[in-house]
Amino acid sequence: MKLLIVEDENDLCRSLAKGLTKKGYAVDIAQDGITAYEQIQINEYDLILLDINLPKLDGISLLQKIRAKNLEQKILILSAKSTVQDRITGLDEGANDYLTKPFHFAELEARIRNLLRWQFIKQNAILHCGAITVDTQAKTVYKNEKPIKLTKTEYTILEYLMIHQKQIISAETLIEHIYDSQADLFSNAIKVHISSLRKKIGAQYIQNIKGLGYRIIEREA
Ligand code: CA
Repeated sequence: MKLLIVEDENDLCRSLAKGLTKKGYAVDIAQDGITAYEQIQINEYDLILLDINLPKLDGISLLQKIRAKNLEQKILILSAKSTVQDRITGLDEGANDYLTKPFHFAELEARIRNLLRWQFIKQNAILHCGAITVDTQAKTVYKNEKPIKLTKTEYTILEYLMIHQKQIISAETLIEHIYDSQADLFSNAIKVHISSLRKKIGAQYIQNIKGLGYRIIEREA
């Protein structure tokens, strides 16, 4: 899952990015409204964490610009503006959620999970495919109930494929949702991770449809 943090306060921005990266999200940052808007044009984000008091373009104006084009984009406002009216304005302009600063990281994380849950097949965030089970909260993968050790990238690829079961996911989409913009990656890198992932979970689970992408499929263990 790929997030954009729009926050001008350097320390908060860095610590959020660090904490969320640790939790397995791909994280981009933007420290003013204009840069954020440019990044949103180029990248597809699963969720945007949006501050209101921002240089160049404030968060509410940015929110309006995004909503004018895209009603589906998930947006969570993170702001020190904490009056009821501030929250109403944010939600009325189309934010999906509003969290006031200061906040506990664990609460932010729970709200992020909640906002992204619509993409999950099961509400309890445990995904199954044959003998493979992915616990998206513990970020752990099991095969026949035995834990399998995956690298962070392998896990992220598998989770994305599991959330989109039955769909064919192109290497470009995987790159888009898995890596942040800093990552210098080509579809070849995805190939390497997929190949290692297939060795660990069983090659039969990941179908490679030539020229189109990858799909997770249910097979007998
Ligand atoms: Ca600010």
